[in-house]
Amino acid sequence: MSTISAAGTRACTLVGMPELPEVTALAAFLTEHATGQRIVAVNVASLNVLSTYDPPPSALVGRIVRGAGRYGKFLDLVIAPSLESDPAEDLHLLIHLARAGWLRWSDSISAVPPKMGGPIALRVRLANGGFDITEAGTKKLVAAAIVRDPNEVPGVARLGPDALSLDRDSLGQILKGQTGRLKNVITNQTVIAGIGNAYSDEILHTAKLSPFATAGKLTTVELDRLSTALISVLTAAVDRSVGAEEARLKGEKRTGLRVHARTGLPCPVCGDVIAEVSFADRSFQYCPTCQTGGRHLADRRMSRLVK
Ligand SMILES: [Zn+2]
Repeated sequence: MSTISAAGTRACTLVGMPELPEVTALAAFLTEHATGQRIVAVNVASLNVLSTYDPPPSALVGRIVRGAGRYGKFLDLVIAPSLESDPAEDLHLLIHLARAGWLRWSDSISAVPPKMGGPIALRVRLANGGFDITEAGTKKLVAAAIVRDPNEVPGVARLGPDALSLDRDSLGQILKGQTGRLKNVITNQTVIAGIGNAYSDEILHTAKLSPFATAGKLTTVELDRLSTALISVLTAAVDRSVGAEEARLKGEKRTGLRVHARTGLPCPVCGDVIAEVSFADRSFQYCPTCQTGGRHLADRRMSRLVK
């Protein structure tokens, strides 16, 4: 969802996948606004959005929202028979917002169920307000599941340790022996949960590391920088996102990014021009001076066109 101007810069209204900071913000918003509320209706308005059928959506109606949480990039709405009931009886509505999904809260949500096949995939109506899970574009990738245990969802069961739970030594342990490129390894949800394309760009830029560095071969000093950057970038983004009440926004804006989605713009640290590596359906950004000793990384798409 970006256009490249004649000057090669990118006018960006990028709809990126919500990552750890945004999903944390959505969970915090729901915890604040939905906890203690009774579910009045659950409308499924997309054929493929729900990956489970037992318990059915109707099983949520009449129950109470106990709170909301996050597993990696999955949002978890915890729904109890009553606030006093045993948590073992809770049901979980797990939502993965994928590339173009978002959660939009409304204080006065419509009682009319959304149209099938439209931009709203799922609506949860509460006694006061409620939310829609929306998805822009034609590729329908947003996924929801209603389960008794979050680990029934394969994507949750496979998650590695949460990014924010990693201190320097545990990060070192995780990366040890990894032969993949650093960018790929830290965005692999089975290795580390919560980091995607945008925040990995930011973390690697702050850590002054090449996205193509071999993950298992970082020096002690590089590992120190990566660990510090990982926590500081994500923590700052969580603080910004939670403050922004993102569930009231349309969600297409991220603030505070220094390198991601800024191809052609100056690096805020050194002033060099931010470069990009493009693939068929995505791209990532980096600063040559800060991260790769001034070298430009091979752009797969361009080299394929040249061949
Ligand atoms: Zn730079």
